[in-house]
Amino acid sequence: MNRDRTLAARDKLVDRLAVTGELLRGTLLERIVRHKSGCPKCARGEGHQVFVLTVTYPGGRTRQFSVRRERVAEVRRWLANYQELKEAIEAICELNHDLLRAQAAASKGGRKRRD
Ligand SMILES: [Zn+2]
Repeated sequence: MNRDRTLAARDKLVDRLAVTGELLRGTLLERIVRHKSGCPKCARGEGHQVFVLTVTYPGGRTRQFSVRRERVAEVRRWLANYQELKEAIEAICELNHDLLRAQAAASKGGRKRRD
C-alpha cells in the first residue's frame, strides 16, 4: 500500500473508533449455583443462574466479579465496545508499521545498495 492509501485507511479507522467510557475487558460466564440443603428452588433441581465477569491480568492473575442479572445486557455491550476498540487499535498499529517501513525505505533512497 502506498503512503497516501495507508494514511487514508488509518483515518477511516480513527473515524470509526468507538470513543466511549463504556469499556470492559474480560469474559462473562454464566453459572448455576446449587445449594446443598434448605433451598426449595435447588431441591426442585432448578438452581440459581449467576453471571460472573472474569478478568485476566498479565502474569495470569485473574479476578472475578459477580454481575447482577439486570446489568448483564449492559456488561455485554461494554465488553463488545472494548473488543471493537481493541481491534481498531491493532489495525491502526499494523498500518503504522507500513508507514514506518515506507519512511525507512525512503530515507535509504528506496533501495538497498550492495558493495
Ligand atoms: Zn438454592
